[in-house]
Amino acid sequence: MKSKRFLVAGAILVAVTAVGADGFPGFRIELFDGKTGTVSIASGDFAAPTVTQEGERTRLAWKGHPRLGDGFTATAEGVRSGDATSWTFSCAGNSSGLPLGRIAFPVVDVPCADKGYLLHSPHAGGGTMGWKKLIDWKSLKPGQLVCSTLSPGFRFVAVLNGEGRDSHYLDVRDAKSNAGRFEVRKGSAGHARLAWVHDMPLVPENAAAYRLPYTATVRTYRGDWFEAAAFYREWAKTTSRFAAAKSRDMSKLRDIGLWMWNRGLAETVIPPVERFQKDTGLKVALDWYWWFKEMPGTFYPDYWPPRKGAEKFKADVQRLKASGAFTQVYLNGMTWDEDAPSWKDGGIESVAMRRDGTYFSCAYNRFNPDHHLANLCGEAPRFHSRIMEQIAHLADCGFDSIYLDMIGCNAYGPCFNPAHRHVPGGGAHMTDDFRAYLKGVKATFPGVLLSTEDCGEAYVDMFDSNISTHSSYERHGWIGTAPDMEFVPVFQAVYHGCAAVFGNYAIVDNVPYWDPRWPMKPWWTGHEESLRRDYPDQFAVEFARGPAWGLQPSVHNFWLHHATNAAYAAEYRFICDTALFYHDNRRFLFDGEMLNPGSLTCAKARVPFAEVSVFAEKVTTRTSELPTVFHNVWRSPSGETAAILVNWSRQAQAWNLKSPAVSGEGVLAPRAWVRLSAK
Ligand SMILES: [Zn+2]
Repeated sequence: MKSKRFLVAGAILVAVTAVGADGFPGFRIELFDGKTGTVSIASGDFAAPTVTQEGERTRLAWKGHPRLGDGFTATAEGVRSGDATSWTFSCAGNSSGLPLGRIAFPVVDVPCADKGYLLHSPHAGGGTMGWKKLIDWKSLKPGQLVCSTLSPGFRFVAVLNGEGRDSHYLDVRDAKSNAGRFEVRKGSAGHARLAWVHDMPLVPENAAAYRLPYTATVRTYRGDWFEAAAFYREWAKTTSRFAAAKSRDMSKLRDIGLWMWNRGLAETVIPPVERFQKDTGLKVALDWYWWFKEMPGTFYPDYWPPRKGAEKFKADVQRLKASGAFTQVYLNGMTWDEDAPSWKDGGIESVAMRRDGTYFSCAYNRFNPDHHLANLCGEAPRFHSRIMEQIAHLADCGFDSIYLDMIGCNAYGPCFNPAHRHVPGGGAHMTDDFRAYLKGVKATFPGVLLSTEDCGEAYVDMFDSNISTHSSYERHGWIGTAPDMEFVPVFQAVYHGCAAVFGNYAIVDNVPYWDPRWPMKPWWTGHEESLRRDYPDQFAVEFARGPAWGLQPSVHNFWLHHATNAAYAAEYRFICDTALFYHDNRRFLFDGEMLNPGSLTCAKARVPFAEVSVFAEKVTTRTSELPTVFHNVWRSPSGETAAILVNWSRQAQAWNLKSPAVSGEGVLAPRAWVRLSAK
């Protein structure tokens, strides 16, 4: 939508161009009408704003609107520093009779190539790291939605226009993680439209006037994803949560050589831990899922007792600890089974409710479709009491760490539950209340560490470790494969060293876990050999990618026969070699700061992946075109810099690295790691 603006510089009036194309942002206001109605008014619906410029400061002022009233004003103020401008926004004088509900600011149109990558952080499907998604911008219609995301991993998006062209970046600097989301659309011709949409706290004093509780930075730069992350990192480092996370004692986690993400009975999850520790001398962390009596996804948050009874379970944990293992156990931190008898004792009063009174719930376990887990708000005292009871049992068993599922990627956004005392709508109550709940757990169980799903920056100082399954993204068919879609380790580039991050779905033989309580037979019976034969590199790619990104080495559904059967000797050797290499290089891969990776030249390969999730019913093949050597560049706390490279393929691979800190070339043996130190 075009609207002329006039730049006031002394006495000179200068015409400028459409929303954002001149570097100036627009906005959108949403008035709430009842439980579902919304009246949307954009800056383009106003008369031209007055633009005042003094040195590096710019002030945009819009006045009067037929619906909002003659006395309505909206003001955006920007301060320019180099290629970046930092913006604030406020408005006042709404006399429409409807309250302000949401404000989208800034809304900027930035130039985009006909086809180019969008860097963002979705919240679904384990997506708090960076997605680089190829967008065919030219084929889109103006206003067409490209993505809408809570962006839990980091609050910036970037339009990457490739070498020789400017890229464009928008961040939201909000250390409170107020409710909101990025919206990316096709803008005017040749432009992408980027916006942050803020969900307001709906209190009477905000109905007519409001000032956004964050600044937003718009920046033009030359570079790719890493340059954008490095820019955001400079701000992230100034937050108290970053400092609190970095100052923690991480010694219990730093020594871990390998995570085993395993499910089921002690008889199957403990022996591989003991075997690997004996073979390598390294500490294993067991992330123990589905230990409880009922079927997964059933009767949450009431998990206790364990399948084989409390005494046996406690003895099993003590056996693990005596072996030197780190022990972590699964709970879900924010869902309640609405089909369980306990639901009537506080379920509905605990849910995160939408404006229309509905809430999200899902039968995640497709083999158990009669049980739906509902997402809860941070204000859920009766749920918290139940979780505390569960943690008390588990802490008594001696577990080192409690995993609280889903908080890292889902505990965001507004809530309109009328039973709650927090202000209705958006604001920071959701993250504030979840943080208060986690602080309560820590205070009640000092010494017990906490872990969660994905890497949410709002909780970077609350969780000591995070499971991240992004290194297995190809197996989620809906995400896409390279070169059209690739994950990049943005969270590590910003927050590496703040918490331990581990995880993937890498299974040595690609055979999913089967819970004996499920009502259906496993579809893969009789197909085990083809699952391995048809996807010979899937395990190595998924497994190697994590440590290459600075994650702790991890395996999924790892059983004793994977360590002892000669059929898996090559994979087991790669697991052992990787864990030993990681352990020797923790000053980079656990403690270090990620540096610009530069560019690495090596052969590429087309890799088939089995699209198999935890609740798999069939297998579909996806193919991804990948470099045979993964790498990143790191600086240790003492200032030492090095590149870490891994060849995941089954052939020797030549490589040539050029990065600002480290460059070199060589040949890597099959399934091998190397550290290249700066000269
Ligand atoms: Zn609530």
